[in-house]
Amino acid sequence: MEETVPTITKTTCPYCGVGCGILATVGADGTLAVRGDPDHPANFGRLCSKGSALAETVDLEGRLLFPEIDGRRAGWDEALDRVAETFSRTIAEHGPDSVAFYVSGQLLNEDYYVVNKLMKGFIGTANIDTNSRLCMASSVAGHRRAFGSDTVPGSYRDLELADLVVLVGSNLAWCHPVLYQRLAAAKAERPEMKVIVVDPRRTMTADIADQHLAIAPDGDVALFNGLLAHLAEAGELDENYIAEHTTGFAEALAAAWRLDMDGIAAETGLDRASIAEFYRLFAATEKVVTVYSQGVNQSSVGTDKVSAIINCHLATGRIGRPGMGPFSVTGQPNAMGGREVGGLANMLAAHMDIDNAADRERMQRFWRAPVITSAPGLKAVDMFRAVADGRIKALWIMATNPVDSMPDGDMVETAIRACPFVVVSDVVGETDTVRHAHVKLPAAAWGEKDGTVTNSERRMSRQRPFLPRPGEAKPDWWIVTEVARRMGFAEAFPYASPAEIFAEHAALSAFENHGTRDFDIGAHAGIDAAGFDALAPFQWPARAGETPADDIRFFAEGGFFTPDRKARLVPVTTTAPARTSEGFPLVLNTGRVRDQWHTMTRTGKSQRLSQHLAEPFVEIHPTDAATYGIADADLVRVTSARGAIVVRALLTSRQREGSIFVPMHWTDQFAADGRVDRLVPPIIDSTSGQPALKHVAVRIARFTAA
Ligand code: SF4
Repeated sequence: MEETVPTITKTTCPYCGVGCGILATVGADGTLAVRGDPDHPANFGRLCSKGSALAETVDLEGRLLFPEIDGRRAGWDEALDRVAETFSRTIAEHGPDSVAFYVSGQLLNEDYYVVNKLMKGFIGTANIDTNSRLCMASSVAGHRRAFGSDTVPGSYRDLELADLVVLVGSNLAWCHPVLYQRLAAAKAERPEMKVIVVDPRRTMTADIADQHLAIAPDGDVALFNGLLAHLAEAGELDENYIAEHTTGFAEALAAAWRLDMDGIAAETGLDRASIAEFYRLFAATEKVVTVYSQGVNQSSVGTDKVSAIINCHLATGRIGRPGMGPFSVTGQPNAMGGREVGGLANMLAAHMDIDNAADRERMQRFWRAPVITSAPGLKAVDMFRAVADGRIKALWIMATNPVDSMPDGDMVETAIRACPFVVVSDVVGETDTVRHAHVKLPAAAWGEKDGTVTNSERRMSRQRPFLPRPGEAKPDWWIVTEVARRMGFAEAFPYASPAEIFAEHAALSAFENHGTRDFDIGAHAGIDAAGFDALAPFQWPARAGETPADDIRFFAEGGFFTPDRKARLVPVTTTAPARTSEGFPLVLNTGRVRDQWHTMTRTGKSQRLSQHLAEPFVEIHPTDAATYGIADADLVRVTSARGAIVVRALLTSRQREGSIFVPMHWTDQFAADGRVDRLVPPIIDSTSGQPALKHVAVRIARFTAA
């Protein structure tokens, strides 16, 4: 008998923003095996613990398999009609701003594109925001005000080519493990390469660091302003680059002089010698990459932190050249893609700008849309406030669980419960959010979905299906398209496949737009189904008629996307917020652990992954633990002004004194009283709208059951 050769499908990991290529093989008995794709330029065959456990997470337990209306099973037609009718009626009675979509960095570009098109071009409001607001909005805002566009000016390869890599607020070892592996391998090969970690915690990432700066929470603006001043004093600026390719240097430097060395030491909590050593090394090394992530972004001063970092690179001309540049890494698999299609409430598709009348007009003409949103919509935190106070009367949540991930989670849950009409389209049938939906729509999961995602280095890769869709699950783009048609927009939503949507998105990116925008994938505008199927990973810009370049090197010669093509140095004067008080004397920092993803709806299925850290915990410095009479493994009550949780104490000197850390993953489903979002107030960065998830005033006490 002839043996069947299993088919190998090239796809992309659905977890973090590294965007690793995966080879998925389904055996004759239906078992799935995954391994790293050796040809994928993000990972070259590597996978981390989460990626390599993917096969353990694709079972159907907990899946939402059929549409439901008010708790009863319904057919697709009835469910889609209900959604379309209710949204149309709400808009007719209360206007377009009475509805909202809260979407996700888990969506593929094609899903994201159609939902954004429906909202901004056909419903006529920008009340669509994404959970990526929680992970990278401050980087977007910082890029836009410096470069005139949301452009990540580097690639993973730059980390390997650098002589100094500064990691700020980034536990790369746990949160972007394959990129960390690439960095660690490069450092092992070139021991002269230096790594500096700036983070209040001594995370696993610091294990390869030559220097760890245990900075005080939100001390980053002071540290990098001080660096700019030092570079000026030491004569280490690139005067030609500043003069030819930037504006705003004098103002930025004047702001940077605000603190002397004693002031910087006081605000950063670092000793003068450590700061001086960091400044000396940065000044003396030409090839510097500064990597930053949630520790920078998730802050009420996040955008200013990003600007302070970018200022140092612009002032030294260390941008756009191999091994140099500021480099933000995104949390989710398609956070970057959401930025490209306008998934944020303050952007249009193809990186066009809602505040720009010419962009709005161009967008409307391309879509042949009856309307175009004229103003930015509600960002995530404000959106749920609007749900709470009744301004939003119909809400569609796609592929995310805001009750367990938004700040002030209990308020978010109360708001969703009281909202007159809530639709949730998701893979899972039971989360703290799904249970409040009037209409539940079963979405296709990873392995069943078909489309593209974009990783942190602007590389678009295919997610290809290799599993049958179970029950009546459907792709998100199909669900939105069907609702749009039922709302009367059939002509503008003719899509029969994700390839058609991708082709339209690519055509839009080049539409009267060439040469003035960073995001351009016009080379793929005419792609057909076969071309889409065979699409290999590529980085943008990928302009029609140009040889594709791997990197954005034109920033080395200016070419920014501002009217005068010069970058802007932005003066930043914000100080670290003081939130602690006598009643709440400690700072709570929240974040990820190595082997879990978000609210554990997938990784929680893998026993292997759950063995790493089996329950929620609070990291406490031994000195603080002694102060509060807490021993290792005690149960601890952590209390903020918003609420309280009870978690296990983990005493470690990796933790900074005066700060504690609780992971973000555990929900009520997995651990009663372990849901850390309950403690976080809805404080945001006023520029980016990103919540300050890493700086919450709390107190701790040993917990004893009554
Ligand atoms: Fe997936 Fe990120 Fe791990 Fe790569 S590093 S395998 S993208 S979770």
